[in-house]
Amino acid sequence: MTYQNYSLKQLQQIDASHHLHPFTDHRELREAGSRIITRAEGPYIYDSEGHEILDGMAGLWCVNVGYGRDELAEAAYKQMKELPYYNSFFKCSTPTPVLLAKRLAELAPKGVNQVFFGSSGSEANDTALRLVRHYWALEGKPEKNRIISRKNAYHGSTVAGTSLGGMEPMHKQLGGAVPNIVHVMMPYSYELALPGESDHEFGLRAAKAIEDAILEAGPENVAAFIGEPIMGAGGVKIPPMSYWPEVQRICRKYDVLLMLDEVITGYGRTGEWFAAQSFGIEPDTITTAKALTSGYQPLSALLVGDRIASTLIEKGGEFYHGYTYSGHPVACAVALANLDIIEREGLVERVKTDTGPYFAQALRERIADHRLVGEVRSFGLMGAIEIVKDKATRERFEGDGRAAVVVRDHAIANGLMLRATGDTMILSPPLIWTRDTIDLACERIVKALDLAEKDLFG
Ligand code: PMP
Repeated sequence: MTYQNYSLKQLQQIDASHHLHPFTDHRELREAGSRIITRAEGPYIYDSEGHEILDGMAGLWCVNVGYGRDELAEAAYKQMKELPYYNSFFKCSTPTPVLLAKRLAELAPKGVNQVFFGSSGSEANDTALRLVRHYWALEGKPEKNRIISRKNAYHGSTVAGTSLGGMEPMHKQLGGAVPNIVHVMMPYSYELALPGESDHEFGLRAAKAIEDAILEAGPENVAAFIGEPIMGAGGVKIPPMSYWPEVQRICRKYDVLLMLDEVITGYGRTGEWFAAQSFGIEPDTITTAKALTSGYQPLSALLVGDRIASTLIEKGGEFYHGYTYSGHPVACAVALANLDIIEREGLVERVKTDTGPYFAQALRERIADHRLVGEVRSFGLMGAIEIVKDKATRERFEGDGRAAVVVRDHAIANGLMLRATGDTMILSPPLIWTRDTIDLACERIVKALDLAEKDLFG
């Protein structure tokens, strides 16, 4: 039986009876009922009532090539017929992860040539954590195992992902994190810069917080620093350009590995294949997932730098870690076809030279002046709008994020899906968006802001 045999009401009732959703208040969900998305095409999603909604979030930061790509469905179908599954354990391999690993090594920044596959960003970060600690143990320094991360970081929802992340409400529910992970300040100047401090200076100060944490622990005890190049779920927080090169300098000075979490930024979102290239740094590990398959299959790839890989290979000994679906042949086949599309259509270049700059300008010229907007910012096709009660003082509305939810609901009702995190509206559209799509999105944002203004100020 297919879902078409059910009415929307029935689907919502069954959903409420049996389906526990991620990051959801289940009492609230049961009162409101869920929005059921039934199909999608190009940049649009459609709900069960037939509403067409422009998807400003690319699903969940992942559908970079847009919806309805027959080529990806065909790649999955062909691979499923030929070999739907075999594992990569016990000295076995299948063709598609082999070819995908080679392709990723070619795209990755200099000195990154090995790949460990999983099915999700969280899994890949779990692998990364295990791998850097294993690396230092192999180097005869097992005590060098502390990891420095940032407050408000998001690195996934497994125990390791939550521990690496810096989200307090998540930590509270964890009841005991993976030990030896500390969190320092995030590089978010809008809220944290001192009066009179330039962006450049603030970036250096935010990096210095990492150095302080290294010195406090003793460099001999610090394995690595991990960070999202641009914090995503934490509110598209874009660091000053001075931040990442300084972080890299500090990591090198104290022999601390540099781990980048590019689950959102990887595969074109910033106008380069990886944000490491946008910020001019050479990390030791790069966590990727999401846009690797444009969300058409669950797949993650931890890209591993030569330093870690050569120790692993030279010292030998089993790395006791891996997943049933590490290197899943179907997911890897879809990833290969997805990379073909991104390359053939020049999507990365387009973000860099055309849609990224146009998006930034559109936010600045059409959104920034609105009474409810404290700041707009973007990098490539990743943007944020800060909702404030008072532009000049940056005072927020009462109710911790309530105002942003009002804006979001109006946006969705007016045909634009975007996300509210705290008081921040987030946009992370498919890379197939054109100037026209950006214009349309801006029109809908302005409309949502106007309606929200009426609701919030009466
Ligand atoms: N890292 C980052 C930066 C992310 O944004 C996410 C997911 N939004 C994850 C890790 C976790 O990925 P997943 O949900 O696939 O486990």
